[in-house]
Amino acid sequence: MPAAIIDQLRAEFDATTILTGADIGARYHTDMAGVAVDLPVAVVRPRTTEDVSRMLKLCHAARVPVTTQGGMTGLVRATMPEPNEIVLSMERMNAIEEVDASGGVVIAQAGVPLQRLQERVEQDGFMFPLDLGSRGSCTIGGNISTNAGGNRVIRYGMTRDLVLGLEAVLADGTVLKGVRKYIKNNTGTDLKHLFVGTEGTLGVVTRAALRIFPAPAEQQVALCALASFDQVRALLTLARKRLGGELTAFEVMWNSYYRLTTELVKGLVRPLPADHPFYVLFEASGSDTERLRSGLETLLEEALGEEIILDATIASSGAAAAAIWRIRDSSVELGRALGPRVGFDVSVAIDRMEAFAIAIDKGLKTIDNDAHAIVFGHAGDGNLHVIATYPPPADRYEQISKLVYGLTGDFEGSISAEHGIGILKRPYLRISRTEEEIETMRTLKRALDPHQILNPGRIFTM
Ligand SMILES: Cc1cc2nc3c(=O)[nH]c(=O)nc-3n(C[C@H](O)[C@H](O)[C@H](O)COP(=O)(O)OP(=O)(O)OC[C@H]3O[C@@H](n4cnc5c(N)ncnc54)[C@H](O)[C@@H]3O)c2cc1C
Repeated sequence: MPAAIIDQLRAEFDATTILTGADIGARYHTDMAGVAVDLPVAVVRPRTTEDVSRMLKLCHAARVPVTTQGGMTGLVRATMPEPNEIVLSMERMNAIEEVDASGGVVIAQAGVPLQRLQERVEQDGFMFPLDLGSRGSCTIGGNISTNAGGNRVIRYGMTRDLVLGLEAVLADGTVLKGVRKYIKNNTGTDLKHLFVGTEGTLGVVTRAALRIFPAPAEQQVALCALASFDQVRALLTLARKRLGGELTAFEVMWNSYYRLTTELVKGLVRPLPADHPFYVLFEASGSDTERLRSGLETLLEEALGEEIILDATIASSGAAAAAIWRIRDSSVELGRALGPRVGFDVSVAIDRMEAFAIAIDKGLKTIDNDAHAIVFGHAGDGNLHVIATYPPPADRYEQISKLVYGLTGDFEGSISAEHGIGILKRPYLRISRTEEEIETMRTLKRALDPHQILNPGRIFTM
């Protein structure tokens, strides 16, 4: 089978599009931790939607499975090829086709890295509000396929909320041309949602029309210290009331995250002492500098007066704001400084977050007395990150995953707030989705990909 499909692909495409054997670089089959899997059958690097369609038509006819690779930052092993799979790399579909200022739209191919798109629209005075730590590598297609979130979801929503229309290729090569530049379109099933957050299992996203917004003239960043999680919730309520749509981020850090990050990660400053139970970073963005600054000052005075916060600092410059953001964005560096650990991105309703974090810490102690949880996240979106760390040498990955996902179920949360399910989290899907929901996902898969060639085994098995 591999020889036949390779011959067919070679007959259809030029030599730079099809890589096989020693020409397949390590990056097509190595994860971010440096663990390599076997070589895929081939790597196909299309330039156009038509290329993707022709390639999938051949693979569909030959029943050859395909895994689509964007920036490969998803971290749930979705893009790691099985030995019988062909890799479809989106790396050469990287054109930004149009920035439409009056429509507030950018049209791009799916392989465009997020940061390049952000920088391109900035040149025209716009912002694309999706922003992730992996911005330099992750791609628009990957962002759509994982419904990526990030730091400004509280104001602009997830990727789903930013996609006006998209183009996708189905498993049999059929092209769905849905790149439309307007918000309103009530003409039946909105097919774009089939491809948002479905991790490439229903089609390959090739182009998209995305919403962009005028870049805010001003951003103010504050860091607050708080005595309890109830105060964190009170501050969120107050910030929403006082700042409305100008509240663009609300990030919570438990003491251990703030303390350890500012202690262990080189080059970070500590704007507030590290002995408070909770810290909140919040960001307000708008067009009127004076109003924004005085609004933020009034809010903090009110919060201090009502004893919602214990202490606060407003960044006095862009550099000071960046320094505060670096604390929140240094979780990867913190992880590297910690030793054995397992990371989680889960959702839990904000009124249950504190009890959830306490339950995890307690549960970890039953696994190893020196294990503990470091918790932080996008509190305003119900999304927490947990780093469960434990002493060497035992590998506690399975035990800890079962514990944290089990508790996520007990607290009626979601086992994936951001990264998706892929293969890594597949055993736990039932914790967050009912049998009927999973069966409905299978029905969709059977209808759109009858030979199950697109990312087979990702999210669920058939
Ligand atoms: C440091 C760091 C920080 C992160 N922070 C966040 C965060 O704040 N929020 C968040 O949501 N995620 C975060 N992530 C996870 C990750 O960056 C996102 O899931 C991102 O959207 C993945 O994009 P990608 O291009 O790397 O996709 P990949 O990892 O290449 O692929 C992810 C999935 O999408 C599929 N896919 C990729 N491109 C296409 C396409 N064109 N058509 C169909 N399917 C496709 C793949 O097959 C796979 O199933 C972070 C990751 C890292 C490493």
